[in-house]
Amino acid sequence: MSARPPGVKRREAKKEAAKIAESLIESAAATAVRDPELAKSQTALARRISLKFNLRFDWRLKRFFCHGCKSLLYPGVNARVRLGPNKTLLMTCTECHHVNRKKLGARLNMERRGLRNSLRA
Ligand SMILES: [Zn+2]
Repeated sequence: MSARPPGVKRREAKKEAAKIAESLIESAAATAVRDPELAKSQTALARRISLKFNLRFDWRLKRFFCHGCKSLLYPGVNARVRLGPNKTLLMTCTECHHVNRKKLGARLNMERRGLRNSLRA
């Protein structure tokens, strides 16, 4: 149905979009303390780009988004960081009060890859 020729053009656009979104998030992280409103609009734009081009961010970039309100999540600005049970990182968004959880620890990753039992034996 699409008039666009398949392949190359869109892939190039996606790569370019990923670069732009990443630099937007990094810039937002750098400016969050000084100018939270600017940082918020930068992350909102990065999110719009990621939706348009079907991008996935890894944890390094994803951690700056609140899962509840999808806006900027930055410790000391609008997030509170605590450690929870079982090596869980809890980041509470002070705007929507959503608790963003992240499991930490090498042991967990080993379990996921099925290495733990082989080490035990
Ligand atoms: Zn939130």
